[in-house]
Amino acid sequence: MTQERGRGRSSAVIVAVGSELLTPHKIDTNSLFLTERLNGVGFAVIQKLVVGDDPSGLSRALGYALRLADVVIVTGGLGPTADDVTRDVVAELLGAPLEESPAIVEAIRARFTARGLEMPEINRRQAAVPRGAQILENPRGTAPGLWLSAGEACLALLPGPPRELRPMFERLVQDRLAPVSDGRRVERRMIRTTGRTESHIDELARPIYEPLAARQPPVETTILASLGQIDLHLSTVGPEPEAGARVLDAAVADLAGVLGNSVVSTDGRSLPEVVGELLRRRGARVALAESCTGGLIASRLTDVPGSSAYVHGGWVLYSNEAKVALGVSRELIESHGAVSEPVAEAMAVAARDAANVEFGLAVTGIAGPGGATPSKPVGTVCLALAGTAGPPRVRRVQLPGDRERVKFQASQAGLDLLRRALLRATDAGP
Ligand code: ATP
Ligand code: MG
Repeated sequence: MTQERGRGRSSAVIVAVGSELLTPHKIDTNSLFLTERLNGVGFAVIQKLVVGDDPSGLSRALGYALRLADVVIVTGGLGPTADDVTRDVVAELLGAPLEESPAIVEAIRARFTARGLEMPEINRRQAAVPRGAQILENPRGTAPGLWLSAGEACLALLPGPPRELRPMFERLVQDRLAPVSDGRRVERRMIRTTGRTESHIDELARPIYEPLAARQPPVETTILASLGQIDLHLSTVGPEPEAGARVLDAAVADLAGVLGNSVVSTDGRSLPEVVGELLRRRGARVALAESCTGGLIASRLTDVPGSSAYVHGGWVLYSNEAKVALGVSRELIESHGAVSEPVAEAMAVAARDAANVEFGLAVTGIAGPGGATPSKPVGTVCLALAGTAGPPRVRRVQLPGDRERVKFQASQAGLDLLRRALLRATDAGP
């Protein structure tokens, strides 16, 4: 076991085979799925290789991968055509001659018969099995997968199409991997935050997660920033998942304590899902008045199944005329500008009242590249939330990036304004 390479975990290398993966048109996504699942059964993925349908290149890549890792997972190149070379290369490399499996021939023939077709002779290639390999059935396609031992390492050959590979991995490969990793398991937790910068989150979290590395089992922490969202990932690896779970749950509670209302979820839920859940629990509905986000907030809220329980609907109030038509005063727009706190507030109130619901949420901003003024640069966004109790909450933020990034972050800020208001209301009662 190459423990030093995998930092206490068994190690895996993924080899994605296919010349199309070396073009600008197709990306290897199988390895993302495989990495997640391999981590889940105690493997660290230490390298990924992408190689074309070229026997000598594939042979070299496989030789290298097998020297490096405890397990090598190959995807693709198991089809019936001449450019599918994985089987032949593996047979050659391991000195395991190919033998036709009558059972596989029959299974493939049955697939064709079921569709009223005759099996082309070429498909016999897929029934060729390197001597000593275990066959992994493929209910979703003709090519079975193969499981082999190769010296110290194990080798899995899986079909390229994701819909064939995924169930095969879950049903047939995962269990074969457990003995290789000595039964070590990975436990993970994730804390999703929004509304603070990465450095601010790091500053708050560091005093807590630094000592976590010394816990038993040690906790590995990673901070992952995406647009308008910072996720803290925590994981442990060891033979006793319960011990890992205890350490992680305590760490999550400590971190959630210092991060406070910046925490969106600790169970993987997205911001729109969390906002939806908070609205549902209060029996409240929201109406949207969106200018620069062009309906993006409504779109993201309605990505969540069941959102009709709390999304009333909304308006894309892009032009001044549209804003006026819903009830924003023309004078207000003329004196403060369409991108201003008073106009955002008036939009939120107009949406709430026109829809006759509990919340009106409004966004108006300058997404760029044009439209900026010295006092309102690109990325200036004003947000407002009109509720049932108290005056509307109004915010002005300055968001970085191009048009698309400003729009997304503005939608994130709008959803977060609503989330925080709902949290406060839940804490304090309506
Ligand atoms: P088939 O019997 O379909 O030929 P195969 O095992 O030979 O299966 P490939 O021919 O390599 O697999 O790939 C089939 C299709 O699967 C590709 O066109 C591609 O769409 C998808 N695919 C292959 N490898 C990957 C990958 N690493 N990530 C995502 N998709 C992939
Ligand atoms: Mg193929």
